[in-house]
Amino acid sequence: MTQGELSHKEDVRNLSFEDLKRYLEGAGEKSFRADQVFEWIYQKGAWSFDGMSNLPKPLRDRLARDFYCRPFVSVQKQVSPEGTTKFLFELNDHEKIESVLIPAQGRATACVSTQAGCKFGCKFCASGVGGWVRNLTCAEIVTQVLGVREESLKHKKPLTNIVFMGTGEPLDNFENLMAAIRIINSDKGMNIGARHMTVSTAGLIPGMKELAQAGLQVELAVSLHGYDDETRSFLMPVNKKYPLKELMAACLEYIRETNRQITFEYILIRNLTCTEKAARALGKLLKGMLCKMNLIPYNPVPEFDYEPPNKLELLAFTTRLSQLGIHATVRMPRGREVQAACGQLRQGPTPPRAHGPGRVSPARPYGRRGQRVPRGRRV
Ligand code: SAH
Repeated sequence: MTQGELSHKEDVRNLSFEDLKRYLEGAGEKSFRADQVFEWIYQKGAWSFDGMSNLPKPLRDRLARDFYCRPFVSVQKQVSPEGTTKFLFELNDHEKIESVLIPAQGRATACVSTQAGCKFGCKFCASGVGGWVRNLTCAEIVTQVLGVREESLKHKKPLTNIVFMGTGEPLDNFENLMAAIRIINSDKGMNIGARHMTVSTAGLIPGMKELAQAGLQVELAVSLHGYDDETRSFLMPVNKKYPLKELMAACLEYIRETNRQITFEYILIRNLTCTEKAARALGKLLKGMLCKMNLIPYNPVPEFDYEPPNKLELLAFTTRLSQLGIHATVRMPRGREVQAACGQLRQGPTPPRAHGPGRVSPARPYGRRGQRVPRGRRV
């Protein structure tokens, strides 16, 4: 299909079930046709109207005249030894986005992007390095899930979980995110339970409030990463807009309104975020809160000059947290070999490891570089 042909058509995956039903009724069709089209796209994984064999030919033609439902062009696919698969998909305007399939015992997770690029510029994450380009449409979010599910099914694994933890900030693209979640969740759509979906935010308070009101049962993960305003503002500039005190109040409000616990994600950077001082501050910050904590050892990103802690440091930190009453789980990175682990997603093909200009070193107060960890002892 040419760019010209695409420009006057809409991606059918931008339509909710109700939208599609209205369109079909407007075209003089019975409403059950909407069930059939949804079933083809979201349950049978059809990538064109042509193959929707239980629809009359004139209807298939009409749909193809007004809409498209083609797959993304997959520009690159990399598979790690443990089966984590990273896709680089090209969008109609040639922007590129990344999505990841993470198979595990008894489940398979799709990690999807919600924006092309990211505006939040966290000082440890590759996604923000090239800046922000645009929001993804609902169709672009859903189509990533469809593409990843197709790969998962090739390996006889149904896709069970979705994490909105790829490139971008989901709550900065709220409407399209919600529309996508509704399609993925709907029993007429992909029928993946809301509790099997996790929205991860850098802490956008207005979005968290809206999410609480949306009445969906999705999991909320908040990227914490700093133990006080100083470290958090350094690592996550968004903290200057939504500082910790307000963020914590918003988390409490979210928990109160939804009756659901929050997961805090916390990156472990040697000599910076996993120190005794950090543990004590976290103990105070999270005291009594209905939450769990995921500890994520820093994944190397060429532009940033950090290291993850070694095993002993990691153990000392987790032990200290548990003494302070914080239940924390260490998430070992998957997909590092193909630059598909947390924080390694970036728009466009991954450039070779850069050590030249453009490499960002941490500012001095936090810049004390840890001793190099001997090979094999990295966690
Ligand atoms: N904007 C959202 C969604 C992006 S997911 C958010 O901030 O939550 C971002 C997650 O990737 C972060 O919570 C962090 O856990 C992880 N991450 C980013 N860079 C990382 C890195 N270099 N090493 C390990 N984890 C990283």
